[in-house]
Amino acid sequence: MSTLRSALRASVVVVGASLAGYSLVRELRAHGHDGDVTVIGDEPHPPYDRPPLSKEFLHGEVDIALADGTEDSRTRWLLGRRAVGITSAPTGPGVTLDDGTVVAGQSLVLATGARARSLPGTRALTGIHTLRTVDDARAIRAALHTAHTVVIVGAGLIGAEIASTAVTLGVQATVVELAADPLAGVFGPRLGALCANLHAANGVRLRTGVAVAEFVGDHRVGAVRLTDGTLLPADAVIIGIGAVPNTEWAQDSPLHIANGFVTDSQCRTTVPDVYAIGDCARAYHEELGALHRCEHWSNATAQARIVAAVLTGAPPHPVPSTYFWSRQYGRMIQFAGYRRPDDVLRFVDGDPSTPSCTALYERDGVPVAVFAIDNARLFTRYRKQIERRPAAIATP
Ligand code: FAD
Repeated sequence: MSTLRSALRASVVVVGASLAGYSLVRELRAHGHDGDVTVIGDEPHPPYDRPPLSKEFLHGEVDIALADGTEDSRTRWLLGRRAVGITSAPTGPGVTLDDGTVVAGQSLVLATGARARSLPGTRALTGIHTLRTVDDARAIRAALHTAHTVVIVGAGLIGAEIASTAVTLGVQATVVELAADPLAGVFGPRLGALCANLHAANGVRLRTGVAVAEFVGDHRVGAVRLTDGTLLPADAVIIGIGAVPNTEWAQDSPLHIANGFVTDSQCRTTVPDVYAIGDCARAYHEELGALHRCEHWSNATAQARIVAAVLTGAPPHPVPSTYFWSRQYGRMIQFAGYRRPDDVLRFVDGDPSTPSCTALYERDGVPVAVFAIDNARLFTRYRKQIERRPAAIATP
């Protein structure tokens, strides 16, 4: 009983004041934790939600604040402050901030997320953007409202969402993708082709199987040259080629870092009392039998729940399957589960030619993942079925 009481009062330091860090504070309080929590975030803004940044926020200001008025006096938010290293204090693990201050607690939770990957040759020119923060989104919005032509590098989820917004603003958009089909690595080639058709049907030019050779311009970008020699005029360029976990700041610590802070399935790092959650964490996934770093909204909130349970001595929370959504050209795309290239794709409602469709990925006749466009009800039914299945079926 007294161990539980002290767990509920123990001090916690969180690095990263975004979705994962914010969700952890909420979950701790929901689990009855009433100790001191200090959250350190290098952005000057209070926690905000990123998914709208590539969607409705590019049309105009929308409320993206995560705070809901339930913030409490025992949580201290140190915003605009950067952690530069991990340290250990007599109380437990802590971090050193950019001004030399040390902030320590009984537990330390790393929630430093990821940053947008870029390409060489972008620094010398203005008009080339990446998208991760609200400030990036405001700059892209301003560019889209004045540009006639835009080149988007990368046909992943974020690139596709930006292209979809660009056309609705009357901007001519070309998407350049190295792979043969957009998102084929995520959904498989047949549904990748479906995503390619969405671009074409909405007037976006898609150039696949080709890379950027150089950005052309004098101070400001004016065109993009591709490796096949094509010159694409561009008033603005947006690069959406994935994200890199923010771990370098902790590289001098004994933490195991390999494409993210490596943790066990309960988000415990290799250093006692130090946890990692969200986009910066590469957790062991029992169902996959492997380490897995997941850059999706629902993973950040689920891992916050897992760590809150560990820190407060509550029963462990289950590790969820992958789930994400994307809105493109007015369509809602959803995916859940884990697919492998050799899984069999079977449409259970509609097909790529119909306005909405749902498809299952099956392994030995058993559904292991589900994809849907504009079919939330059926999607949710199959998602629940997949999440209930015995773990052994999904083991690679
Ligand atoms: P982040 O949100 O990256 O937050 C980490 C925070 O830590 C940042 O504020 C960062 O500046 C800060 N930080 C980094 N280093 C330090 C340091 N040394 N000291 C202090 N602070 C530090 N997911 C979906 O499922 N569906 C979607 O439709 C979707 N759309 C998205 C659209 C965009 C444009 C983006 C960028 C992401 C989208 N995502 C989507 C992904 C989802 O937003 C992320 O998975 C989620 O934001 C991860 O939260 P996080 O807190 O782990 O990391």
